[in-house]
Amino acid sequence: MKVAMVIPPYRYGADPSQWITVPPQGYGGIQWVVATLMDGLLEAGCQILLLGAPGSPVQAGVTVSAAVETAEIHAAIEAFAPDIVHDHSNAAALPPDVLRPTVSTHHLNGVPERQINGIYLSCAQRTAAGSVSAPVIRLPVNPSRYPFQEAKDDYLLFLGRVSAHKGVREAAAFARAAGLPLTVAGPAWEKDYLDALLADFPHTVRYVGEVGGGTRTRLIARARAQLVLSQPWGGPFGGRWIEPGATVVSEAAASGTPVIASDNGCLPEIVPGVGTVLPVGQNITLGDAKRVLASLPTAQAVRETAVDRWGHHTIARQYLAVYKRAVSGKVWT
Ligand code: UDP
Repeated sequence: MKVAMVIPPYRYGADPSQWITVPPQGYGGIQWVVATLMDGLLEAGCQILLLGAPGSPVQAGVTVSAAVETAEIHAAIEAFAPDIVHDHSNAAALPPDVLRPTVSTHHLNGVPERQINGIYLSCAQRTAAGSVSAPVIRLPVNPSRYPFQEAKDDYLLFLGRVSAHKGVREAAAFARAAGLPLTVAGPAWEKDYLDALLADFPHTVRYVGEVGGGTRTRLIARARAQLVLSQPWGGPFGGRWIEPGATVVSEAAASGTPVIASDNGCLPEIVPGVGTVLPVGQNITLGDAKRVLASLPTAQAVRETAVDRWGHHTIARQYLAVYKRAVSGKVWT
């Protein structure tokens, strides 16, 4: 199949000519999802036009478009003549006048701009969007991009945006109760939140900034566990934060690193089998922390579960089935 992948073009760093690529240089949830999905679709024989990520690495089967404006994106899609357009931009970069079959993966919270032929990352996210029957397809992981490490170092990891709704403070509180250091990696756009975190957990938190490449994969693979204690408040657009898909869960699991998560959003759907789920608001004692750490599944089991559930071939097959439904004229909301 010929697939046009539309992602939101985001600038990278201070240089106005640079864009966040697929895969991303550092932080980039949607860009990692699309990179991994493309791995699976390419192995299944698809040809892909990638829109919204100029400068992405060249690879066989992929045309990287320089288009970032809607009119240019439209022209690029028409010239490519895809069987299916796959939007990941919540319609922000999707030209409204594209007449080709289109599906949209929703990566955010709340009701998507385009509800026709939507795909959700979790049942929790789908319910919050008001849909009952649109397909849920989990976030993929390509195990060959994540080195597996059985022996772990004595630190816990938080990887992601350093923001209240991502539960970095709760991760620090868990680590302090466990008597383990917490490495915090990710962009800190809310400086007050980071400053308070460092002031309140001076002996626990080690902030290493945004990470990419081998630094990122090594940090994930060596951690004793990854903490994904998302909270239902403090989200980017106000309102309740419902963790939609959590890319970091499948990445950690593929590396053999178990996950300690809150029960917010998608997490109770995906974490059992690769880690433990704790209720939002639970105060963690030393005893609790020890019990949780002792109960985590082994590195081998976690990796096998991740590949089985979310391996890029499996998820690409699920997407291909949905593409075929849309191409055959089926419409769902
Ligand atoms: N990430 C990264 N470098 C960082 C922090 C995060 O590459 O310093 C990646 C992380 O590995 C994951 C993505 O950014 O692939 C975050 O996606 P997630 O779904 O966990 O969170 P969100 O999209 O809500 O920010």
